[in-house]
Amino acid sequence: MAGSVGGPRILLRRLREVMAEPESAQKRLDKIVVLIAANMVAEVCSVYLMNGARELELSATEGLKPSAVHATRLRVGEGLVGDIAAHARPLNLADAQSHPGFAYRPETGEEIYKSLMGVPILRSGKVVGVLVVQNRTKRHYTEEEVEALQTVAMVLAEVVAAADLITAEPDDAGFRQPRSYHIPGASFAEGIALGHAVLHEPRVHVTKLIAEDTELELKRLEQAVYALRGSIDDMLETEDLSHAGEHREVLQAYRMFANDRGWLQRMLEAVNTGLTAEAAVERVQNDTRARLQRAADPYIRDRLHDFDDLANRLLRQLTGVTLASLSANLPNDAIIIARNMGPAELLDYDKDRLRGLVLEEGAPNAHVSIVARAFGIATVGRAEDILQHVEPGDAIIVDGDTGEVYLRPSQEVIASYSEKARFRARKQEQYKAIRGEPAITLDGEKVALYVNAGLQVDLPHLDEAGAEGIGLFRTELQFMIASTLPSLRDQIELYRAVLDEAGDKPAVFRTLDIGGDKMLPYMNLAAFKEENPALGWRAIRISLDRPALLRHQIRALLTAAAGRSLRIMFPMVAEIAEFRRAKALVEKEIARLEKFGKEKPALLEVGTMLEVPSLVWQLDTLLPEVDFVSIGSNDLLQFLFASDRGNPRVATRYDFLSPIVLSFIRHIVRTCRAHGTPLTLCGEMSGKPLEAMALVGLGLRRISMSPAAIGPVKMMVRSLDTAKLAAFMDGLYDLPDRSVREQLAAYAEENGIAI
Ligand code: PEP
Ligand code: MG
Repeated sequence: MAGSVGGPRILLRRLREVMAEPESAQKRLDKIVVLIAANMVAEVCSVYLMNGARELELSATEGLKPSAVHATRLRVGEGLVGDIAAHARPLNLADAQSHPGFAYRPETGEEIYKSLMGVPILRSGKVVGVLVVQNRTKRHYTEEEVEALQTVAMVLAEVVAAADLITAEPDDAGFRQPRSYHIPGASFAEGIALGHAVLHEPRVHVTKLIAEDTELELKRLEQAVYALRGSIDDMLETEDLSHAGEHREVLQAYRMFANDRGWLQRMLEAVNTGLTAEAAVERVQNDTRARLQRAADPYIRDRLHDFDDLANRLLRQLTGVTLASLSANLPNDAIIIARNMGPAELLDYDKDRLRGLVLEEGAPNAHVSIVARAFGIATVGRAEDILQHVEPGDAIIVDGDTGEVYLRPSQEVIASYSEKARFRARKQEQYKAIRGEPAITLDGEKVALYVNAGLQVDLPHLDEAGAEGIGLFRTELQFMIASTLPSLRDQIELYRAVLDEAGDKPAVFRTLDIGGDKMLPYMNLAAFKEENPALGWRAIRISLDRPALLRHQIRALLTAAAGRSLRIMFPMVAEIAEFRRAKALVEKEIARLEKFGKEKPALLEVGTMLEVPSLVWQLDTLLPEVDFVSIGSNDLLQFLFASDRGNPRVATRYDFLSPIVLSFIRHIVRTCRAHGTPLTLCGEMSGKPLEAMALVGLGLRRISMSPAAIGPVKMMVRSLDTAKLAAFMDGLYDLPDRSVREQLAAYAEENGIAI
């Protein structure tokens, strides 16, 4: 058996020379196949390229009949060449004709060749063709030869991309004009956005493939891998998870892969075949992708994402491309595409340029979705495989209402969505028109609508939306976006701005709700290493264990509210004792004010979130001690159903419009009413018109939501007859159904309620 002549490095050098020659694209390709055949000691070398009809067209050959060039075409999946393209993996066969997939094409004259080695030609992970060598004898190609051919195929991919070697037709659905995609996902934030794709973690496109100095490339690769390992270790150690939007599990997978000796070894070998360090990373990634893609197990396919991310990080390390330098060039109609991200990362983008957000993963009640809703950014989550199809700058439409994404949409789709966007704009006009009107039902019931907020940028929304006040001010957002703990002065400043904006309207400040998926980059708390963060050391639990932090915050609130009204609310209270301890800290701070002769708030109310089910069983004892309560439906229902709000597999498994939830909330409403305690619901449930209708129907009269939801919910309230709805809902609470969504929607439709 003959090996390759002079090895792949010589071949790559010769290829580079051919690429530099001022030849036509076809001539260059014809020369390349001759070169490869000679170097690999093969009688045949053929290149098949994807044409406009997504067929693999024989585009150049040494050894097969020249008349077959541009005549022989195979569908993806057809024959051995089609098989290689379909699975994006090499085939190495000593006796090709005995393979069940062999498809005989008489026009090529290939019947005399026994052995075949073929590899996919991949660009940015996508198959653009197939490169094949054949021999008359039953030759066993070695692993090294397969590797060498893959390296050559990679260089060929660049030749193909640079020249006009794809036989594209005008309606090309293939490589040059990538096809349109309709990707169904889930609605995370309503709204329609037409814009251009920006990859949150952009892929680095490798352009320099052939090394000039292999020793240097080996060193660069090793250094980059060490630096990458170090940065992953740092991230895991500093717990900088919220800012990076990473989950511990993903980082741990990165660490495992990054330390895998086989991975580094394979990349070093690829450099030794003559590639640059960057090209070697991509080469090995193509192989890994092909191997993992074959796995049916979703866990393994998830790991493929991890591996893709990791390879991309390594490429950024090598090329020095940083995320910050890329987000500086954000277009005016940016639609961010990410696998997942944390709320702080979304806040890093210039909000004025953001139109939409598409996540491959995520969950509707995860905090990044809440922030997206607060900003009115149309968001679709669980858009499967979008990262595989999207290219930076692609035209893209995000339909946050239906949870769909259109990638590279046709003119018809664009026209229809432009119409939809105009329709929404008209709706917005209608909402604006009722901005000054009260939210009063047809039978005269007043429903107070409040906004949820958390940042200075949210404040103008209070007035714009025509809300009655701020039902929930998430103070932790200020802590999450800062790079160090906000000082007392920073906190006072923000709280003063909130109170100034609110004027006579009430504003409810929720004390720090951190932990779970809301981590602070600078806290560096070893105790956050938890198996179940949602059930772990979070919110009031941290505040009570580290009272200095809470006292500091209360001090800031009391100072900002001197002479004015102040409403403080504690998160995640699970038992009365916790509320009492937290309230005692407020009293201590008041005593401190008195001691120093400082002005106190003119009115002080202290309440609690109701978001841990246990507290519902202490309501009769709790309510006389609190000034108000607010249901946090996001957490309350995640705990009620034991269903992680941030885990896409289970987050929407249970419908919140179920008899269980409705009767549970009705019980709270009735108990609060009996005690005369004001009750609000400030979770995401109240921002959806149908859910809000059900909440009003079961007796709630105060709901707080993202500002963008006020218009639609007010419209719903003003078209509602509460007495009639309550009577209808009486028949729902005891039903065994898992959901009564359809019944409620039908009721709304029949009764002309604006949903
Ligand atoms: C809730 O849990 O419903 C809530 C309003 O709080 P957060 O979403 O901030 O946890
Ligand atoms: Mg909560």
